[in-house]
Amino acid sequence: MITPEGHSGIAFGETRDGNPRSDSNARLAMSESLAISNSWAFTNQIHGRIVLSVDEPGNAGDGDGLVTSKHALPIAMTTADCVPVVLKGRERVSVVHCGWRGIAQGIVEEATRVFESDGSIVDAVVIGPHIGPCCYEVGRDVIDTLGVSAARTTRGTRSVDLAAAIRTRLPTVEVTDVGICTHHDDRFHSFRESRTPLRQVTVAWIQKDS
Ligand SMILES: [Zn+2]
Repeated sequence: MITPEGHSGIAFGETRDGNPRSDSNARLAMSESLAISNSWAFTNQIHGRIVLSVDEPGNAGDGDGLVTSKHALPIAMTTADCVPVVLKGRERVSVVHCGWRGIAQGIVEEATRVFESDGSIVDAVVIGPHIGPCCYEVGRDVIDTLGVSAARTTRGTRSVDLAAAIRTRLPTVEVTDVGICTHHDDRFHSFRESRTPLRQVTVAWIQKDS
C-alpha cells in the first residue's frame, strides 16, 4: 500500500493488499499494518454524486463518497482506474470515488459541500492512483462533458486527465496527486486494461493525535 508523504490518515491499497471490502482477512492485515480499527465504513458505489455522512462502520448504502468527523473511524472506497480522492480538514475527512461520470455529475463539488456543511473547511486534497492521461483514451464526448482540454496518451491518441478535471473543481485547495497510473503500473488493478472485477481500496481516517 501507499501512504502519501506528509499526509497522515490515508492509505492507497495495491493489488497485493487484496480486497478489504469483501475479505475480512485482507481488511485485518491492512488495518494491523496501519494500526487502525478493522471496522470500516463502505458504500455501494454507483457512479453517482451521493455523498454520505457516517459515524459508524458498515455499509452506509448507495453513494460514492463518505464523510466523517468520527475520530479513528476508517472510511473506504474501492477503485480500478477511477480516481480515489481524499479530502482533509482539521477534524473531518472524506473519501470519494471519482470516475468521469461522477466528476461530470458534480461529485467533487457535492463532497466539498457535505464536508463543509458543519462549518469545517477542506484544507488539503490527496488524489490516489488512477488511470492517467498517458493511458486513458476517450472520445470527444468525455472531454466536452468534463469541460477540460484534451490530453494525449503516450501513443498520441486523445485522452483525458481526470486529476486535472478534479483540480479545476477545487480551485482554492492545495491538491496533491501521488502520480501513479493504474493502467500501466502492475501494482494496481486496471478495469480498462483487463475488465477485471477486482478493485484496490483507499482508506482514510482521522488520527487520534492529529
Ligand atoms: Zn498510464
